Amino acid sequence: MPRTDRDGPHGHVADGKADVLVVGGGLAGCEAAWHLARNGFRVDLFEARGAAGGTSQEPWQTDRLAELLCSNSLKSDDPQRPSGLLKHELERLGSLLIPLAREHAVPAGMALAVDREAFARAVTAAIEACPGIRLVRGELGAIPDGPAIIATGPLTLPPMAQAIAQAVGDDGLYFYDAIAPVVDADSLDWDRAFTASRWGRDQGVARGEGNPGSGADDEGDYVNCPLDREEYDAFVEAIAAAEKVVPRAFEEPRWFENCSPVELMVERGREVLRHGPLRPIGLVDPRAGARPWAVVQLRAENRHRTAFNLVGCQTRMTRPAQERVFRLIPALRQARFLRFGEVHRNTFVDAPRRLEEGIFLPGRPDVALAGLLCGVEGYVESIALGLYAAMRLVARLRGVPFTDPPVTCALGALVWHVRHAPAPYMPTNVHLGLWPPLEHQGRLPKDEKRRRLAARALADFDAWRATGPGPGEGA
Ligand SMILES: Cc1cc2nc3c(=O)[nH]c(=O)nc-3n(C[C@H](O)[C@H](O)[C@H](O)COP(=O)(O)OP(=O)(O)OC[C@H]3O[C@@H](n4cnc5c(N)ncnc54)[C@H](O)[C@@H]3O)c2cc1C
Repeated sequence: MPRTDRDGPHGHVADGKADVLVVGGGLAGCEAAWHLARNGFRVDLFEARGAAGGTSQEPWQTDRLAELLCSNSLKSDDPQRPSGLLKHELERLGSLLIPLAREHAVPAGMALAVDREAFARAVTAAIEACPGIRLVRGELGAIPDGPAIIATGPLTLPPMAQAIAQAVGDDGLYFYDAIAPVVDADSLDWDRAFTASRWGRDQGVARGEGNPGSGADDEGDYVNCPLDREEYDAFVEAIAAAEKVVPRAFEEPRWFENCSPVELMVERGREVLRHGPLRPIGLVDPRAGARPWAVVQLRAENRHRTAFNLVGCQTRMTRPAQERVFRLIPALRQARFLRFGEVHRNTFVDAPRRLEEGIFLPGRPDVALAGLLCGVEGYVESIALGLYAAMRLVARLRGVPFTDPPVTCALGALVWHVRHAPAPYMPTNVHLGLWPPLEHQGRLPKDEKRRRLAARALADFDAWRATGPGPGEGA
């Protein structure tokens, strides 16, 4: 609990006592520490990089806080696109990092890209200068006893990963992302697809998805995209020939058998996909009146069925290759990709099932996870989940209720994902498919749909911000 008997926010720097520990000085941790401090809490921010005798810091280049690991782009800054909207919302909530990104932007069209060194330097300087924050260069390998936010990110060091696994259960912490592409429902050719379930209720496991118990297999849950023999052969050939993203040195592949990328399955044999994620057993194509040669199954990404995931099609193919290859599936000839497949090293928790309210450790209402650990993807999304975790903890430590942002805005859609996304859990960036459809939408041109979704998001976000006890704090 925040102490009331201190002289001011500087006090803990002298006495070494903090109200909240934040572990991890990356994007989420810095954003969270800043928000806590602005709300009068004394924060110790632990960052392993830069510690005397610390472990190797690959792939980071420096010990600066908030160093971007790869691209220098924070994606679209267009307020009509999901990522642009999210930035706008974060700024309205008093974000530290988004305005600093703007200050250190480099020209990148409609995207917000930064001079990565200047950005990390500026974040480090802001944190070091913040009176309520003490930056501690050191690794923390255990869950703190008192209030804390753990934001150790995709490359969480092993002792902390072990501590989190112990807290959430070993099978609730994952070390790799194996993401399948997501396509817009409006872009499917429904004449070439059919909704049906197979006889059994074993799909989640047998179709190779990693998480037993995922088996949503009720009538019509899945959209089936049939392929005949020639189409299947062409699809497999195209996967074999496609350009792949090369893993980095620290990402040596250790696939879970159930999350192998499609290209690895194709390498093992041309029939492997047909006996794995594309197996047609138990399905009859009503148009042909027969079992298809192979079937790509799609599963709804949200309850409104506006976006569909290509089940079992996690892949390391490059984005242009994914567009080319997956459009060979007849029902997907015109597919619009809302998210591309990816496979990379990542540490994240099955937040909807293993965390309380999507962020708190079980039995520890004073310890929240933040950033990528909760199952979001992307720089801005990680910042968002840092700010959200801090807002939740501030409300909790003060004993005041907190209302989540509405699912119709960008932050709310991400929060909905970490609280409620169905199994198997896959990290997500913010994209149109996370939003509930517009009322009376009908089929709108893409740009018009985006414009209306953005207008609704802005209005609903502003209404939430005007009323909620959480959002107004520190902003
Ligand atoms: C290799 C790689 C490349 C990526 N490239 C992109 C990209 O180009 N674009 C994009 O949008 N997203 C990218 N991401 C995904 C994601 O957006 C970033 O990883 C983002 O930085 C995550 O933010 P975070 O705050 O959750 O974690 P991080 O920014 O990684 O911060 C975590 C911090 O915690 C520290 N830490 C770890 N364990 C401990 C411990 N036990 N004690 C103390 N400190 C600890 C780390 O040193 C680190 O500074 C990439 C991820 C990876 C792994």
